[in-house]
Amino acid sequence: MKINLVKLHEGLNELTFQIKPENLDFDEQPETLGLFPNEIHADVEVQKFSDKFFVKVALVTIAHYYCDRCLDEFDRNLEATFQLVYSKHSRDQFADDEYRFLEEDETEIDLSADIRENILLVIPMKHICRESCKGLCPQCGVNLNEESCNCQQETIDPRWEILKTLQKK
Ligand SMILES: [Zn+2]
Ligand SMILES: [Zn+2]
Repeated sequence: MKINLVKLHEGLNELTFQIKPENLDFDEQPETLGLFPNEIHADVEVQKFSDKFFVKVALVTIAHYYCDRCLDEFDRNLEATFQLVYSKHSRDQFADDEYRFLEEDETEIDLSADIRENILLVIPMKHICRESCKGLCPQCGVNLNEESCNCQQETIDPRWEILKTLQKK
């Protein structure tokens, strides 16, 4: 996703983009496969002060997951925001992680890599369709959110389990 610097005017520029996920190379990470079937909406604010550009990006998409417990598919909003400073001058007053140096003759900035990285940062570690998800029966595999089964639910108090293993020693 590129921003043409030549077209920006001094002060605040507000831009919106619809980004196709295939343009962000998510496929390089196998763990993100299938996670982004939907377009990513980007609201971008660029404050231009001569040859300095303060860029603020807000991203929203609907991510597609498989529940870790019941394996059902579900969709959930995913949001990410980040800020960068682009400048043709020295980096002195900016923190390294948000500063980007611009060559004198550069006319556009490409935000694709930063967008990809910031989206990857906010993907939750666990994908659970809802807090109360009961998951699958470990014995017969039915989805316990949808039906119940007659499997013996062995309910052994974990403290007794520990005692048992101790006794074996
Ligand atoms: Zn679930
Ligand atoms: Zn069962």
